[in-house]
Formats: sequence, C-alpha cells, structure tokens
Amino acid sequence: MSDQIKDAVEENDARRFYFFDEREIPEDLIGDFRLRRQIHNRLFLRMASYVGILVGLILTLRLFLFPDIAGGIALHQAYLLNFIVLLTISGVYLIISFSLESRSSFRHAVLGQRIYITIIVLVYVALGWIDMQVAPDYSAIIGAIVYLSVTIWIGLYGYLLLLFLINVFVAAGFLLGVSGSIPAGDLIVEMILFSILGVSLYFSINQGRMHNFINEKLLNRTISELEDLSLRDPLTRLFNRRMMNTELEKELALSKRTSQPLSIILLDLDKFKRVNDSLGHAVGDETLKKTAELLLGGVRESDRVYRFGGEEFLVMLPTTSLKDAAVLAERLCQLFRSSTFDIIPWTVTASMGLADNTERALSADLIKLADCRMYRAKDAGRDRYVDTGCNEGFDSEEPVIPD
Ligand code: GH3
Ligand code: MG
Ligand code: MG
Repeated sequence: MSDQIKDAVEENDARRFYFFDEREIPEDLIGDFRLRRQIHNRLFLRMASYVGILVGLILTLRLFLFPDIAGGIALHQAYLLNFIVLLTISGVYLIISFSLESRSSFRHAVLGQRIYITIIVLVYVALGWIDMQVAPDYSAIIGAIVYLSVTIWIGLYGYLLLLFLINVFVAAGFLLGVSGSIPAGDLIVEMILFSILGVSLYFSINQGRMHNFINEKLLNRTISELEDLSLRDPLTRLFNRRMMNTELEKELALSKRTSQPLSIILLDLDKFKRVNDSLGHAVGDETLKKTAELLLGGVRESDRVYRFGGEEFLVMLPTTSLKDAAVLAERLCQLFRSSTFDIIPWTVTASMGLADNTERALSADLIKLADCRMYRAKDAGRDRYVDTGCNEGFDSEEPVIPD
C-alpha cells in the first residue's frame, strides 16, 4: 500500500472517534461540501413542503368539518389563518424551487432555502402559540425544533441562530400574552429542554452527514490513487503495459469498425546498459524520464505513449497509416539525435519497429511484428526504424486485413 493511501485510511479511521468541525474541511472540498448540503436541503425542504401542504389541508378540513373548537371563533380564525399561511408558503416554495431549478444560481438557491426555513419555523411557532391558548401544548414548537434538526443540513451557527429565533419568538408570544395561561417557569424550562434536545439531535445527525461526505471523498481519492498505481509506471508516469493492452485492444476494435488505420511504434533505447554501467542507475533512470518527455512532446495529442518494459516504449497512433507512422519515426530518431541527456557525454539513440493494422489485426500479432522489426533495426546498425519484413512465423500466412 502506498504511504498516501495508508495515511488516508488512518485519517479515515481516526475521524470516527472525534468531533468533526465543518471548518476542518479542506479548501478544495468546501465548494463540493456546500453544494452537497444545498442539494440535500433542496430535497428535504421539498419534502417539508409536501408535508406542510398535507398537514395544512388536513387541519383546514378539520376546521370546516368540526368547527366547534375550544377557544371560540377568534381561535378558529387564528388557526385558519395559520394553516392558510402554511399551505401558501409551502406551495410557493415548491413552485419556485422547481421552476428555478436550472436557472437560479447557487447563492440564490441557498438564500431561498434560508427564507423558507425561517418562515416555516415561525409558522410552526405561531401554531404553538395558538395551541397554548387552549392547553399547555408545545407539540408544534417541539415539532419545529426536531424537524429542523433532523431534516435540514446547515452549519452550526445557522442552526443556533434559528434556535435563538424560535426562543425569542416564543418569549415574545409570552410577553404579548398570546401564549395563553402557561406559567413563565414552565415555559422557560420547556424551552431550555427543547433547545438541548435540538442541539444534541443536530450534532448527532450532522456529524454522521459530515463523516459520510469525508469518507466518500477519501474513498474516491483512494480509488483513483489505486487506479493510478495499477495503470501508470511510477518512474516515467507513463501508462504501463496493462493500460496499453486495454487501450490497444479498444482502439484496434474501433479502427476495425470505422475502417481506419492504426499504427504502433515499438522503441528501444540503444546501448542503454552502457548508461547504467558507466554512469550509474540514477542517470539511467533520468534518461528514461527524459525519453518519456521527448516522446510525449514529439507525438500528437491523440497518440498514446506507454512504457512497454525496461527501456522499451510503445507509441500507439490511431487513424495513422504505416506510411505516416514512418514519417513520425524518422522525426523521433532525429529528435533523439539532437537532444542532450543530462550528463551523458554521447548521443542517445533509439531503434524502432513499426507495424499497422492492415498487416495484423490482433494486438499480440501487431506487437510481435513491431518487436521483430525493432530487432532488425538493431541488427542493421541501430538509430533507425524498420517498417517491413518479419511476416513469417505467424499462424496465418496471409496478412489479416480488417473488414
Ligand atoms: P541494445 O541497443 O541492444 O538495446 O542494448 P541495450 O544495452 O539497451 O540492451 P539490453 O536490453 O541488454 O539492456 C537494457 C538495460 O536497461 C538493462 C537494464 O538494466 C536497463 N533497465 C531496464 N529498466 C531500467 C530502469 O528502470 N532503470 C534503469 N536505470 N535501467 C533499466
Ligand atoms: Mg531492451
Ligand atoms: Mg536497448
């Protein structure tokens, strides 16, 4: 396991045991985090709107079906007004939320959510006031606090602010005499208890949400690191042979379907052992890195360069005929001749074997052909490319030409 992954896993384990503060979220993840919260709130506030409409309708219906409620006509009208506000605000929020979904900016969406949360909380507290005219019934206020903690995902200060607002609103109702005949002591004790309940719910649920978010990000990072480890060569950072096999198969199939040519260049550095033996392995490694850079800089964006093994590289050239590949191979030979490699006092050259998919259709055969031609380039004196010959030794005597 790489150190990076080990660190990520350890960090992940440690996270489970301590309080997670939103301010600890790394800079590069904060945008993602806020977006996640906004999407979460959008879903849950829409659900709250459906609940608001349903509850508003049931309670309004109840008022019409059983109009004799304790407290008389004034209370009846207060309830009715409250339910109508609940219905309207929920309906308006739903309409705005759906119609502005694609057009509204992130900032406007968050602002809309905050306004809706505040209004809905005040509506529930007002419902609590009206209830308290009849009996010491706090259910609407508990409902507002619990519902808020469980469904809405906001920052701690935002949550504390809302809780404060609820308490102020309840206290104002009491001072204005609209909270009925509840004794002040009872109200204060109840509000303290509900607030503690709200904060503890807020923490337990939001900690879980934050851990989920961070764990998911760590997992994604770990997966991409593992992918990187398994598909790239650590020295040159080029894709390795495993990736080459996958991509070559894919490109060959695509070329066959679209009747396009595809060529490969198999390249081997000349007398590379000499670099290692006389200048050391570190210089050898640097030479391989420089070779990777040269190749990447020398080919098109659509071409692919892989480290085939040791000091061998494979260049895959989609939609390129053998003739065009030969032009590139000549240019690459020239590039090596004209480049200086670190402290190597002699010219580093390469030998190349070329093949294309009109000669062999299977990736293994194509590589075999290019490999054989690369050795012919070595035999002919190195520092060159070969793009003909070597057709003997294949299962099928005839070249396999794609449909
Ligand atoms: P030729 O022109 O015939 O290809 O000669 P050569 O010396 O390049 O051929 P050979 O295949 O015998 O030697 C390749 C050398 O490449 C041997 C090996 O030590 C070295 N090599 C392979 N991978 C690495 C690597 O990752 N780092 C370093 N420094 N050397 C490597
Ligand atoms: Mg070699
Ligand atoms: Mg070599």
